[in-house]
Amino acid sequence: MKILGIPYILKLVPHLSESGNLGEHHGATHEILLESGMDHDAAMATLIHEILEAINHLLELGLEHGTIVAIETGLASVLFESHVSLDPILKEAEKR
Ligand SMILES: [Zn+2]
Repeated sequence: MKILGIPYILKLVPHLSESGNLGEHHGATHEILLESGMDHDAAMATLIHEILEAINHLLELGLEHGTIVAIETGLASVLFESHVSLDPILKEAEKR
């Protein structure tokens, strides 16, 4: 996956949620981590969230977390309603 032309590595991580997060965005290493135990829709919503976090970081938008959550929720609702999936991106994920 590339975000604004920058390659990002997507990793599925078991037990990530034990740290309190279903997903993590690491701006320094260009990685997005997702809890591997989520169902499909939760994984997709979390991926959307972390992509938004990456855009916020790369473009220095200064969005607050609540704003990112709101955009995630709105965008996910449109995609779910129209049965649009991010499976091609989710399939790229490395398991670790
Ligand atoms: Zn967040």
